[in-house]
Amino acid sequence: MREPADANERRAKPAIVVYPTGTLPQPDMAMLERARQTLRTVREVIVPPRDALSFEVPAGHFFRIVSIEGPQVGDLNLWSADNLDERFFSGKTRALHGTHVGTGDRLWSSLPYLRPMATMSHDTLGWYGFDADGAGIHDVIGTRCDPYTSRLLSGGDYHHCCHSNLARALAAARGMGVREAEMHVHDVLNVFMCTGFTRDTHQYFMKASPVRPGDYIEFFAELDLVGALSACPGGDCGATHSSDVAVCHPLKIEVLRPEPGSLADWTPPAPSTYPRTHGL
Ligand SMILES: [Zn+2]
Repeated sequence: MREPADANERRAKPAIVVYPTGTLPQPDMAMLERARQTLRTVREVIVPPRDALSFEVPAGHFFRIVSIEGPQVGDLNLWSADNLDERFFSGKTRALHGTHVGTGDRLWSSLPYLRPMATMSHDTLGWYGFDADGAGIHDVIGTRCDPYTSRLLSGGDYHHCCHSNLARALAAARGMGVREAEMHVHDVLNVFMCTGFTRDTHQYFMKASPVRPGDYIEFFAELDLVGALSACPGGDCGATHSSDVAVCHPLKIEVLRPEPGSLADWTPPAPSTYPRTHGL
């Protein structure tokens, strides 16, 4: 294909950050750090390999996803406990915070709510940064492994993809049919997953997660939350997924309560005040 005469001039325009975060309301990390020194575990959930479980976290509590037994990737969905229509918005979280989230970043909710559902308060893999392949940890660029894409690419049916695991977990937690629950499953936070885009074709790639038993990611719940976590059939996602081939391990969810009073005058975030007239 022939390039226009001014092709290089067009390519040389400056890159502009789409959503500068200078005006983004910031979490009080000093308050969260004080509060997390007082945490007591109030509930533990063990998610079996190649399956998912649901959990609830009251606003003002913390929750951790902990690696136990061996390297394992987790696919996380979050909903507002009293309104499943308000759910984690992976795309806008990515647009605001970048391809991978870290301590101080927030998980934002879907439109028309757009408020922080959870704030990452600690990450034992924060040291990883971005490696020589451009890969980082905890991405918001993947979606979740699912039986539709699996069938499209391989022709077979596999029933323990994260999408199916999450649908079954929500169905069980909410007493709804799995087909209804499926409609609430959404693009995930890929916990502990090591991912990036290839330099030549810009395709989504994965490599073995550096997570080891004892590592954890920790969030402060800004709202009353329902979560579901799938222990991905890809295991550490170092080779393959959407099958029973990879070695898989359980993941632990801990819900933790801080000392009353340690959160100063924190209040849950209000929904967007945009009046939803859309100009009409
Ligand atoms: Zn998966």
